[in-house]
This record gives sequence, C-alpha cells and structure tokens, in this order.
Amino acid sequence: DAGRNRYAYFTPALQRAAQNRMRLGNDLRDALAAENLQVVYQPIVDLRRGRVCKAEALVRWHHPERGPVSPAEFIPIAESSGLILEIGEWVFRQAVRDVQRWRAEIDEQFQVSVNKSPVQFHSESGMHTRWLRQVVEAGLPGDAVSLEITEGLLLEGGDGASQQLMALRRAGFSVALDDFGTGYSSLSYLQHYEIDCLKIDRAFVHELEPGSKALALCRAIITMAHELGMSVVAEGVETAHQRDLLASIGCDLGQGFFFARPMPAQALEALLRQQRGE
Ligand code: C2E
Ligand code: CA
Ligand code: CA
Repeated sequence: DAGRNRYAYFTPALQRAAQNRMRLGNDLRDALAAENLQVVYQPIVDLRRGRVCKAEALVRWHHPERGPVSPAEFIPIAESSGLILEIGEWVFRQAVRDVQRWRAEIDEQFQVSVNKSPVQFHSESGMHTRWLRQVVEAGLPGDAVSLEITEGLLLEGGDGASQQLMALRRAGFSVALDDFGTGYSSLSYLQHYEIDCLKIDRAFVHELEPGSKALALCRAIITMAHELGMSVVAEGVETAHQRDLLASIGCDLGQGFFFARPMPAQALEALLRQQRGE
C-alpha cells in the first residue's frame, strides 16, 4: 500500500491490518443492505451574500460495535472491493431525492454536490445514462447536481472515463474538481476538460495569512479559474480570518467548520428555511 518501489515486511501487525480491512469490508456490505449508512450535508456558502447556496453530500457509517467509522477509512476499502458502486448509487439516489424536495419547497436554485470515485467511471460505460435518467425522472435540470471528481480520474485519461465525463457535462451536470492543488495538479486538465468549479484543498486554506505563499497561490488559482469561466470553492474554512482573506481575493464560495459541520438532511432543511425567513 505504501506505493511503488517500496519494500515492506509481512509482519503480524500487517496481517492484523489486512484482517481488519477484510472484516470492515464485510460489515460495510451488511450496513449497506440494512440501510445503516447515512448521507449528511455540509453547507457551501456564497461568500459575497453570506448565504448557503449548495451542499456537499457526505456518507456516514455508524458501526454497531466500533461507532462512527471515517469515510477516509472505509471508502478506500469499498473501492478495492467494488462495493463503492452500490454505495455511490445509494448516495446519489438520496441526494437527488433531497435536492428535488429542497428546490421544490425552499430554494429553486439549490444545488447538491456528490463525490464520485474514479472506480464508478471505470465500471461500465452506461453509468452516466443512469445518473442522468434519475435526475430527469426527478424533474430536475442536470445542474441541480454537481459531480465532484478528483485529478486522479483525469490523470488516467485516454479511456472511457473522459468520454463519460464529457457526456455528463453535455447533459448539463456540473463538474467540480475536488482537492485542487494537491496530488497530481496539472494545468493541462484545465485546458482539455470542461470543468465548472475548482475546490481549493484545505491544505492551502489552513495556511492563509497576509503575505503568505498560500494566499498568493489562492489568489492566482482564483484569477486563473475566473479567466477560464470556473467558480471557486475554498474547502476547510475554519476561522473568520480565513473567510475574510478569501473574500478579499474574490473567492466565490466557502465550505468548512466555520460555517457549519456536515449535518443530517433535516437539519440542513431547517437551516435553509430559516435563511429564507420562515
Ligand atoms: P472530501 O470530498 O474532500 O470532503 C471534505 C471532507 O472535509 C469531509 O470529511 C468534511 O467533513 C471535512 N471537512 C469539512 N470542513 C472541514 C474543516 O473546516 N476542517 C476540517 N479539518 N475538515 C473539514 P469526511 O466527511 O470525513 O470525508 C472524507 C472523504 O471521504 C471526502 O473528502 C471524500 O473524499 C470521501 N467521501 C465522503 N463521502 C463520500 C461519498 O459519498 N462517495 C465517495 N466516493 N467519497 C466520499
Ligand atoms: Ca468532495
Ligand atoms: Ca475535498
């Protein structure tokens, strides 16, 4: 797991870790069958107007014995076992159902974003038609849903993934590039793919101070994104200071614990109604 060209001895500790992964994978399958997973939503705030205009769907798993298990731990397990396909479909269904209700009852512009694993693009070419059908059947335009992808998907390029991505984009889905600035960042992706939104990784946001390199990088990313017709979300905003710095350099949207933690659908709904003045 450590990557290419690295040696590791197979120790009892490694064996325990492998067994743990296998057990978690099995438990996750049960959890999905028993509908023991939950989708929570983290508000995304328009920094100019100070209003929640989007939310990111994030999956949660409460393990019967271990308590909450982080998606950072179980998503990779689900990806290697293929279970991510079913989990991804399940999260997508919930998100479409929720955004349909919120647009009908509270805010007709509201958008929900859903994380898509690269595995979901590789499995079968018909995936995007099914996602599109669900959205159309819910009477929603494609841009009610934004798909969050990572640079890893674009890095592989070449195969069906990029074609599926283009088809989704043509169908009106909006596409956000997640964790931008970390990993494999290459500007050629921005030249060759149609992307609607960049999400600046929280590694930059955490370091924001007047005169910092992080601030210069964020400013340059925002200028570039705007020149290319993309909007920008800053992830991991934890303080008013960070929010103010981001607003001062023209960042469009913010997401982070400063605004709100991920919350159940009902709590987000209450927040949206309150914001509308009900
Ligand atoms: P991500 O897509 O980058 O999601 C943002 C993560 O940052 C979430 O962690 C969120 O709770 C956390 N976060 C938000 N604001 C702050 C902040 O101000 N400070 C800090 N320190 N963290 C903040 P979470 O929910 O634990 O998810 C972790 C990762 O798991 C996600 O990272 C995403 O890659 C993956 N994931 C979660 N749900 C799904 C899903 O439904 N499908 C797929 N494929 N991946 C998912
Ligand atoms: Ca994300
Ligand atoms: Ca992210």
